[in-house]
Amino acid sequence: MIGIVGGGYAGLAAAWRLLDAGEEVTVYEAASDVGGLAASYETKGDPIERYYHHLSRTEETIVEVIESLGLQDRLQWRIGKNAFYIDGRVHPLDTIWQIAAYPHLSIYDKLRLGFLTIGIDFRGGRPRTGTYDDYERFDSVSVKEFILEHTTPNVYRSFFEPLLKAKFGSRLDSVSAAWLLGRIHFRGERDIRRGEILGYLDGGFAQLTDALIETIGMDRIETEIMVTDISVTDEGVESLTLDQSGSTESVDADGVVVATMPHILDELTGHQTNIDFQGTVCSVIATDEPVTGTYWLNIADDAPFGALIEHTEFVPPERYGGDHILYAVSYIQDLEGELWSKTDEEIEAVWLDGIEELFPTFDRSKIRWIQTGRRAYTAPVYEVGYLDQIVQYDLTSTVGQGVYYAGMGTRAQYPERSLNGAIKAGFAAADAYLDA
Ligand SMILES: Cc1cc2nc3c(=O)[nH]c(=O)nc-3n(C[C@H](O)[C@H](O)[C@H](O)COP(=O)(O)OP(=O)(O)OC[C@H]3O[C@@H](n4cnc5c(N)ncnc54)[C@H](O)[C@@H]3O)c2cc1C
Repeated sequence: MIGIVGGGYAGLAAAWRLLDAGEEVTVYEAASDVGGLAASYETKGDPIERYYHHLSRTEETIVEVIESLGLQDRLQWRIGKNAFYIDGRVHPLDTIWQIAAYPHLSIYDKLRLGFLTIGIDFRGGRPRTGTYDDYERFDSVSVKEFILEHTTPNVYRSFFEPLLKAKFGSRLDSVSAAWLLGRIHFRGERDIRRGEILGYLDGGFAQLTDALIETIGMDRIETEIMVTDISVTDEGVESLTLDQSGSTESVDADGVVVATMPHILDELTGHQTNIDFQGTVCSVIATDEPVTGTYWLNIADDAPFGALIEHTEFVPPERYGGDHILYAVSYIQDLEGELWSKTDEEIEAVWLDGIEELFPTFDRSKIRWIQTGRRAYTAPVYEVGYLDQIVQYDLTSTVGQGVYYAGMGTRAQYPERSLNGAIKAGFAAADAYLDA
């Protein structure tokens, strides 16, 4: 039996691939449900992800998985409207006309920003293509240094700096340009008359999770079981120690795929990495009325959240029994910090004050429900030099025979993490096991 540690998309993908090749697997998931960061809350209609999720056109592996599980009719490509909140106003930035009318960048700033986003290097006033194709080349360059060299100081100050602050807070200076270029590449497709094209599964990603569970078989998935140790001898993996509500047992295993954040890999096997992680606090607020008028609102003004994501500006509220669904999210750089130490109710109060500040017509009495989720490890900080920290799929030489890794520290999750990356990592770790 091959034990899979973690029932997120990486673990489920690894289990599926191994089963398909005739191996026997058991997935151990510490939480009460599978899906990991893509798990959902119930609503009056479709389930809604606890943390906002959408797909990009470039993400082929997850689309192939969706198709092979028969869910292709549910995959919808929709316009995800983007806007910037700055100086007390929402500025939509979807169409070429809206971008042209945006007052905080000059025509030259917009030209330089536009060239960068379509992959044209305009340094020295001479347009060249190809500079940004291999984003790994920019792993050793800081994102600030890169933006200042490849656009203008005002593009950095008025456009990128607020986004970077929202995403990486005090760590923004350490982030590499590879992360930014990877992100531009992943989120690249736009309709210039309507905005960015993003994918979503009708019925939510819970549909995909359920289809994966069905394919693997619920009898091969054990929830509320935490793997606390992996015993590896010179001959390879011997057993896993499992903890269920405080009682432990050992199960024999021929191999293991660890599909968790890298610090758990370290705890289980002693395989160390220096990857620095950030956490997330994210609330889903269901209201009677729309709030922001856009799907994705980046906020440059002072606010307790980095972004507001109004899901029902992307997917119609009718799918949620008429409720409008708004995410308020903040990335956590410091687990000793003020926000992290608050209770869910206190966080929700902070969010609502912040929303009222930005949108004075927002009416708290229209709120139907709020749910708050938090996780201490949700994304690597893709720092300069990150490539050297990537964890290999096959850990035979560092930990022992039969130990494989599919979590967020893998190459498939570089230079930005995603569901597609998690599935690719699961497949790659399983393939490495099968090759060996
Ligand atoms: C706020 C936010 C927004 C995001 N937005 C998007 C998006 O728009 N599009 C997109 O594609 N991706 C998005 N992502 C990223 C995506 O959710 C992740 O890349 C993906 O879910 C990671 O899957 P995983 O299986 O690697 O890890 P996880 O989902 O974290 O799964 C790991 C699992 O392992 C379990 N586990 C940990 N330790 C143990 C143990 N010792 N024993 C047993 N089980 C254990 C955990 O409980 C967890 O369920 C977003 C993530 C966040 C946080």
